[in-house]
Amino acid sequence: MLHTVAVPLTMEIINRTLRSACGTQAYHIVEKLMDAGYDAWWVGGCVRDMLLDEIPADIDIATSAPPRKVCRTFAKTDESNARYGAVLVSEHGHVFEVTTFRKDHSAGDGRHPESVKFTLDKAEDAQRRDFTVNALYWNPITRELYDPHGGERDLREHLIRFIGDPVERIRQDALRMLRAVRFRALIGGQYHPDTFDALHTCARQIMILSGMRRFTELTKMLMGPNPDRAFEDLWETDIIEDLMPELHACKGVAQPKAPHKEGDVWDHTMQALRSFTTDHGADARWAALLHDIGKPETFAIDDDRIRFNEHASVGGTLAQKALNRLQCPARQRDKIVWLVKHHMMMGTFRELDDERKGNWYYHPWFIELLQIFWLDIAATTPSDFSFYEEIIADYNRYLDAHPLPPRQLLDGNDVMELLGLPPGEKVGKILHSLYAAQLRGEVSTKEEARAFILSHCTDGQTEQSEA
Ligand code: ATP
Ligand code: MG
Repeated sequence: MLHTVAVPLTMEIINRTLRSACGTQAYHIVEKLMDAGYDAWWVGGCVRDMLLDEIPADIDIATSAPPRKVCRTFAKTDESNARYGAVLVSEHGHVFEVTTFRKDHSAGDGRHPESVKFTLDKAEDAQRRDFTVNALYWNPITRELYDPHGGERDLREHLIRFIGDPVERIRQDALRMLRAVRFRALIGGQYHPDTFDALHTCARQIMILSGMRRFTELTKMLMGPNPDRAFEDLWETDIIEDLMPELHACKGVAQPKAPHKEGDVWDHTMQALRSFTTDHGADARWAALLHDIGKPETFAIDDDRIRFNEHASVGGTLAQKALNRLQCPARQRDKIVWLVKHHMMMGTFRELDDERKGNWYYHPWFIELLQIFWLDIAATTPSDFSFYEEIIADYNRYLDAHPLPPRQLLDGNDVMELLGLPPGEKVGKILHSLYAAQLRGEVSTKEEARAFILSHCTDGQTEQSEA
């Protein structure tokens, strides 16, 4: 976890960082660039991390060397983003982004990162960076800290403050609003009042951004520390209204008092985000964020009790729309939507027989479904994990009894040949019946499988077995 006090760079954190594999290589990159006559510094997040007494996980380097010189200085480089000034340098398995000093030279359109102009002056490079705490430079050889905008002081106050006029900086690139929220959550800090005002004033500009840039930044918020703080901020600045209207709708939607002392649907969702552990990947975190977005639409009071009938399936449809709007990659979208749609199915588990359970327990996304089930309970006050424990015990019992899902004994071609059938739905149904018989232990060899098909699956006899 991040420490709460920023301190000037101590010998202790410097030594620990330089001894780390990444730090050692990043030292040599700066050394080589300086030997070639250029200015070079570690920059941004890595210096911020060190001031927070953390060893940086990755180190970015800023230099006066133009991209082609960077490429010539190092053996293994990737120049695909060289026209933006960024060259990837690989050293002993680590990849470093080495970026030529750049300056703002034209007003951006708010959608794209600004167009690029190189400079030899690192003061200009610092001026174009978003926040004071991100315009920090450290030279590992001279040990000098270059901090032209008071980033170290702001970090001590845990303050996110735009460099320059906040409204103008957001107009150039609206993504900076989301970055402000993310970095505030990351350093567990607060906003400079002018920064907060600008986020509020410019909130509506968020939709200028492509869905993909919004999705990537939201994913970073979900994966970073204090994700609930980030989403509360999106609410408080009104950014959420256009960005995620489905979540905005959850605020103020009451839940039945008996199991939900945590508050309304929004509060429940925030408690889910607060419960994330390092086991939870991006898909589970997205599904937890969206799991109850079907509740506002399905709210009803029956027999004096609040109910949300079918909210999981309505939520699945809404999640699909939201993720399409955010240009989420199709495979990831399908998985998140599936998790939202099925997050209530555990309630039906006690009634399922082993054959049907097998279809769930061996489902490739079942582990994440369990995680959503766990997070849903953790997000409820009081949390009662007894049913979760019961499912885990049953899951383990099932896996012990059926160590691996048996492989299909025959395939579609075998079935068509055996029964003289053309390709089609019927072949699929027969394979399904055969597989069900395999799971029940009734057939275990190819011979038995053929006999099963001939005796059970001739015209009109195909067994029905659906999960
Ligand atoms: P992280 O630990 O999340 O990687 P970081 O500070 O390294 O934190 P990046 O998104 O990797 O953040 O960006 C690297 C640096 O580039 C930032 O520290 C900041 O100085 C600058 N930067 C990145 N995006 C923008 C932007 N949209 N506007 C201005 N400066 C930016
Ligand atoms: Mg970075």
